[in-house]
Amino acid sequence: MSRHPLFSRLRWRIVAAHMLVVIVGVIVVLAMSRILLDYVVPSALAGDFAALASAESEAELAEGTSALLAAFRSAVLASVAVAATGAIVAALITGLVLARQILHPLDQLAGSARRVAAGRYSERVSVPDSEELALVASSFNQMAKALQGVEEQRVTLIGDVAHELRTPLTALAGYLEGLVDGLFEPEEETFDAMHQEVRRLQRLIDDLQALSRVEAGQISLQMESQPLLPLVELAAASLLSQAAGKGVTLSVSRLADSPLVHVDADRVLQILHNLLGNAIRYTPEGGRIDVKVSSRERNAEVTVTDTGIGIPAEALPYIFERFFRVDTSRSRRSGGSGIGLTISRYLAWAMGGELTAASTGAGRGSTFTLLLPLAPPD
Ligand code: ADP
Repeated sequence: MSRHPLFSRLRWRIVAAHMLVVIVGVIVVLAMSRILLDYVVPSALAGDFAALASAESEAELAEGTSALLAAFRSAVLASVAVAATGAIVAALITGLVLARQILHPLDQLAGSARRVAAGRYSERVSVPDSEELALVASSFNQMAKALQGVEEQRVTLIGDVAHELRTPLTALAGYLEGLVDGLFEPEEETFDAMHQEVRRLQRLIDDLQALSRVEAGQISLQMESQPLLPLVELAAASLLSQAAGKGVTLSVSRLADSPLVHVDADRVLQILHNLLGNAIRYTPEGGRIDVKVSSRERNAEVTVTDTGIGIPAEALPYIFERFFRVDTSRSRRSGGSGIGLTISRYLAWAMGGELTAASTGAGRGSTFTLLLPLAPPD
């Protein structure tokens, strides 16, 4: 049933409810007064009228008149009292029914809030047609949906972490069983392989800890204005031998004056290490990695372009999600946890920047672009 638009506002509904209560009260007063005056009062006064009619002297007439007036006054007062009591009872019942009807959506909301608090995140309330309550109900539904999303993420995260931990642990258990059964010789090679799995576990745990900190916004930033180029050169220099060892050329060029940025230098280095490390990891021998520094309107820009294996278009939207790897076995073999880019993007956001990825497809290289805020002019 659709209501008049005026009544879709709660305040008008409350006013209308008050008016209805008053109207019911007045109708009951009028109706009861009418009945009392028509039937009860005349019979109550009949005796006094008869006494007045049969008065034979002046004194009896005066006495009869005052008795009649007194009886009339008390009959009217009693009628008003009875009618008022009836009106109060009727108004009370009407008020309770109306209040119950108006507050019903709030009761529903309170019940749903309790169920959501108890962990039933799929709970939703129906949106009432009063504008004010509809706003509250749809905000509640939005909140419940967001909580459901967080809960789903939490469950996925636990599954992912368990999965990631299981891989190196299974390998370690395999080596240990092999040693016990005599399948493997207790020699340096075996222990090296086991040590590698332990290091992978340690790296994963360090990454997870860093991820939980950045996701919770618990990172302290030492923001300072500084030139960007030296930071990029420092990051590139520290990975130069790694690139050379793999037969990959790594070069830095600047397209404009080195921009001054307002950043936390350590965090920028962390992001650049991740981007350059990935570029080296996913670029085969003979490939090239070009790092360019430039500035745009309000941002400085670092692009890391490689001629490596590239990223397929269908994988690009997920590249920054935790534990996402394009080629799971390949990345895992090379020690990748699939968390590096997630952390880097959070760090870029925390500094007021952005990190994006582009690739024209598998086998055609990738470009990662880091935007950082320019230092404010003095
Ligand atoms: P990982 O530690 O696995 O490298 P990242 O979060 O740093 O984790 O990267 C996520 C995934 O993105 C990688 O597993 C890889 O599939 C893909 N990726 C990242 N950088 C590149 C790149 N330069 N070229 C191709 N693929 C890349």
